[in-house]
Amino acid sequence: MLQRYEKFLEKLDKRLEKYFEEQCEFIKCKSGCSACCEVGEYPFSRLEIEYLMSGFVNLPFGIKHKIKEDIKHLKQENPKLYRCPFLINNMCCLYKYRGIVCRTHGLAWYDESENRIRLPYCVNIGLNYSKVFDRETGEVFLQNPIRERLRIDSILKSPQAKSYQIECGEIRPLIRWF
Ligand code: SF4
Repeated sequence: MLQRYEKFLEKLDKRLEKYFEEQCEFIKCKSGCSACCEVGEYPFSRLEIEYLMSGFVNLPFGIKHKIKEDIKHLKQENPKLYRCPFLINNMCCLYKYRGIVCRTHGLAWYDESENRIRLPYCVNIGLNYSKVFDRETGEVFLQNPIRERLRIDSILKSPQAKSYQIECGEIRPLIRWF
C-alpha cells in the first residue's frame, strides 16, 4: 500500500507544484519559513501516519528522542493547536514523508460547497495571499483561485486515489495518533 501511495504522491506533488507556480504572485513560501508548521492540528489519515512513521524509524537517535519527548508533553497538555513535533530547527525532519495537509498548505482554493475561497492560515500573518485579502472585511480579491478541493479527505477519496487503490483509513489530528 505504501508503494502505491508513494506513486499517488508523485502525481499529487506534480499537480501542487503547478498550482504553486500558477499562483506564484501570491506565494511567499521560502526556505526557513515554517509558519504553517507552528500553529495547527494537522489532520493525518492512518495511511499518512504510517508513511510518516516509515521515515521516522531512520532518523538519528537524538532527533527521535526529542520528537518522542515533545509528543509526550503535547499529549499531557492536549492543546488544540500546537507546533508540529516533527519541526526541528524550523525544518520538517520528515519532509519527504510529510502529510497531504503539509503539501497543500499555502494555497488558496475555491470551496464550491460553501461558495467561498479558502485561504491558508499564513494569510493572517501577512504571508500568502495577503495582498488580495482585506482583513477588516474578510473579502478576498482573487480572480482565479484553484478549482480543486484541496482538503485531505477530498484528495484521499478522489477518483485518482481510487485508481491507485488507496485506502486512507480514519483521519485524526496528528497528535491523536500517538
Ligand atoms: S510533518 Fe513536517 S511539514 Fe507537516 S506540519 Fe509537521 S513539520 Fe510541518
